[in-house]
Amino acid sequence: MTSEATSEATSESTSESTAGAGAGELVGVRAVVTGGASGIGAAIVRAMLARGAQVTSIDRVADGVPAGAGAQVADVTDDAAVRAAVSAAAETMGGIDVVANNAGIGAQGTVADNDDAEWLRVLDVNVLGIVRVTRAALPYLRESPHAAVVNTCSIAAWTGLPNRALYSASKGAVQALTLAMATDHVREGIRVNCVNPGTADTPWVSRLLDAADDPAAERAALEARQPSGRLVSADEIAHAVCYLASPLAAATTGAMLAVDGGSHALRTRAP
Ligand code: NAD
Repeated sequence: MTSEATSEATSESTSESTAGAGAGELVGVRAVVTGGASGIGAAIVRAMLARGAQVTSIDRVADGVPAGAGAQVADVTDDAAVRAAVSAAAETMGGIDVVANNAGIGAQGTVADNDDAEWLRVLDVNVLGIVRVTRAALPYLRESPHAAVVNTCSIAAWTGLPNRALYSASKGAVQALTLAMATDHVREGIRVNCVNPGTADTPWVSRLLDAADDPAAERAALEARQPSGRLVSADEIAHAVCYLASPLAAATTGAMLAVDGGSHALRTRAP
C-alpha cells in the first residue's frame, strides 16, 4: 500500500474510556445518521443513543447498525429511496431535529487516474448524498425547535491529500456546501456545521491497511506519521458531532471542527 493510502484512515485509542460521555445531552432529539452501519457513522449512532436521542440510520445496509437505533436501508444516490427513508424515519421518531450526513466513500489517484464516470460516482455519494438527505429532511428540520445538520467532512478539504484528487475535491465541496447551507438556513433556526476528521480507526482504514504486504508495519508507520502518534478514534469524532448537534452549540453554525490530533495544524504551519 502506498503511503497516501494511509493519509486518512487507525489506533488503540481512548474510545472505550469516552464512549459513554455526555449522557443526557441529546434527550428528546430525533436524529438521522447516514452511514450508521459502520465506522464513524456507527459511533455517531452509539454516542447519540448514549446521550438520550432517538436515532435512525440510513445506510445501504442494516447490518452493523447499533442496537437501539432504527435502520432504513437506502442508497444516498437514490433520491426516491432517500425521500422514502427520511419520511419513514420521521414517522417512526415523530419528527427530525438532527441530520448527521456521514456516509461517504474514498477514491485514490491523481486527476490523471480517475475518469469522468469515477468522478461522478464519488461526487454522487459524498456531495449529492448530503444534498438529497438534507433536502428531504428540511421540512422536518423547519418544524424543530433546535434543528442541526452536521456533515462529516475531512482534513482533505483543507490540505488536499496526495494521490486523492477526487476525494479531496469531494470533501472541499462538502465544506463549501456546509458554509452555504449555514448561511441559507440560519434565519430558519437550522444550524449547519461539519467535523473534519483526520486519519481515523475505522473499517475503511482497516481495509486499506489489510491490503498492504505487512498490515501491522503499515499501521505502525501510519500512527507514527500522526502528530499525536496515534489515529483518531471513531468515538472521538462522534463526540464532536454530538456537541455540534446539541443545544450546547446553539450559537455555532458554519463551523469546521478539526478532529485530527493536530494534523491540520501541523500541515499548515509555516516551514
Ligand atoms: P466506513 O466505510 O467504515 O463506513 C461508511 C458507511 O457509509 C458504511 O456503512 C457504508 O455502507 C455507508 N455508505 C457508503 N456509501 C453509501 C451510500 N451510497 N448510501 C448509503 N450508505 C453508504 O467509513 P468511515 O471511515 O466510517 O467514513 C465515514 C465518513 O467519514 C466518510 O464520509 C468519510 O469520508 C469520512 N472520513 C473518514 C476518515 C477515516 O480516516 N476513516 C477520515 C476523514 C473523513
